[in-house]
Amino acid sequence: MEHYDVVIVGCGAAGLYCALHLPRSKRICMICKDDLEQSDSYLAQGGICMLRGEGDYSSYFHDTLKAGHYENDPKSVDLMIRSSNTIIKDLISYGVQFEKDPQGNLLFTKEGAHSKARILFHEDQTGREITTKLLYAVQKLENISIFEHTTMIDLITKQEKAIGVVVQDPSHKIKAILAEDIVLASGGIGGLFPNSTNFRSLTGDALAICLKHGIQLQNIDYIQIHPTTLYTKKEGRRFLLSESLRGEGALLYDIYGNRFTNELQPRDVVSKAILKQMEKDQSEFVYEDLRPIGKETLQKHFPNICSKCLEAGYDVFQEPVPVVPAQHYFMGGIKINLSGQTSMPHLYACGETSCNGVHGANRLASNSLLESLVFARKAADDIAFGQYGTTQYSELEIDLSNYEQFDERMEEYRQLVLQEIEKEKRNHE
Ligand SMILES: Cc1cc2nc3c(=O)[nH]c(=O)nc-3n(C[C@H](O)[C@H](O)[C@H](O)COP(=O)(O)OP(=O)(O)OC[C@H]3O[C@@H](n4cnc5c(N)ncnc54)[C@H](O)[C@@H]3O)c2cc1C
Repeated sequence: MEHYDVVIVGCGAAGLYCALHLPRSKRICMICKDDLEQSDSYLAQGGICMLRGEGDYSSYFHDTLKAGHYENDPKSVDLMIRSSNTIIKDLISYGVQFEKDPQGNLLFTKEGAHSKARILFHEDQTGREITTKLLYAVQKLENISIFEHTTMIDLITKQEKAIGVVVQDPSHKIKAILAEDIVLASGGIGGLFPNSTNFRSLTGDALAICLKHGIQLQNIDYIQIHPTTLYTKKEGRRFLLSESLRGEGALLYDIYGNRFTNELQPRDVVSKAILKQMEKDQSEFVYEDLRPIGKETLQKHFPNICSKCLEAGYDVFQEPVPVVPAQHYFMGGIKINLSGQTSMPHLYACGETSCNGVHGANRLASNSLLESLVFARKAADDIAFGQYGTTQYSELEIDLSNYEQFDERMEEYRQLVLQEIEKEKRNHE
């Protein structure tokens, strides 16, 4: 058995930022299911929100609540918004480059349902820029060890508190890793759905494990469908056409070339309008026309999207591209409080796998990276200043032979989460 002070499950933005804010005296183990780059944090295109001075507070707060259908937890929203300036300063100190004007002032963009431009961005690859810089900072620290291709398959508990995780390592060996505190930063659930913008490996394993251990979840049927992903008949992850394209002027047309909705409404409203139009026209997609944005802005702000569309056979400077809604984001998750604590002592959660009520029933664009970072830091602070663990490892006996059927177990987890989502849907009806 290996022992650490903290185990963090997940190496996306949430896991990395949590690790960076834990004391250097803690021995930290980070694990991820795939390569380090296979986390949704690398895929974030649009950007990250930031409060633009006190004068922006009530408008930012209201935009978040309106998009969330007023089901948000106002305390969590307040904490996120009020922490945003500190988080952005911190990111810049790690070397994150946000777009600036020629005078060196930060530039802001706008997305649907934002009443103001308050989103910082790095071309159309903001997530990659942030996550790469966080990873670089983590890799410099000697107290943190990272293990790729290592999958959490269970929690180890003692007297109803979390004391470790069971994992399958890259050589398919089952191991126990013990720790005083455990942080679940294991991302979303897109891998459970045939059409999703998420990495296929993100299947909500932590949710199934929490269900098995009676740890509280919240609103797990609150799943965001993004209105615009590139239409394809191929299998695999769907490529996102960021909402900031519509924020910058892109328009939606039906298959006959007519506009049918206001492109700047919240995501759930635009997704519904597209699906309705597709049904009416008996079509498999609608069109998104990026040309109103202008060639210069398209080339400068959205180079990755332009080249991905070209690879798929669409020249965005000449023609509209076919788009279709797909699963994108998970608003629900493992229930946490303002300190990132779950309902089980010494077990924390942060990032997309957790639910602190920030997003309510529908996330406002570009709030999720910010929310992940804010609550990852809260969890790190709580661990740093909380009670020291008292686990008597010598008394532990863990039978790892129960975990041999890895594939069957993971399939069972997928089914369990899907069933639970359906159950929660019925509760909400
Ligand atoms: C295409 C796309 C575009 C987006 N654009 C934006 C945007 O512009 N702005 C914004 O704010 N948000 C955006 N988002 C959402 C945002 O990227 C995510 O919500 C956020 O990055 C989640 O970070 P995370 O650290 O919680 O999870 P992730 O970054 O997904 O990391 C999850 C980690 O958990 C690991 N993991 C999962 N299960 C296990 C297991 N059983 N054992 C071990 N490890 C496990 C994974 O391997 C991975 O390392 C976008 C998302 C997508 C998919």
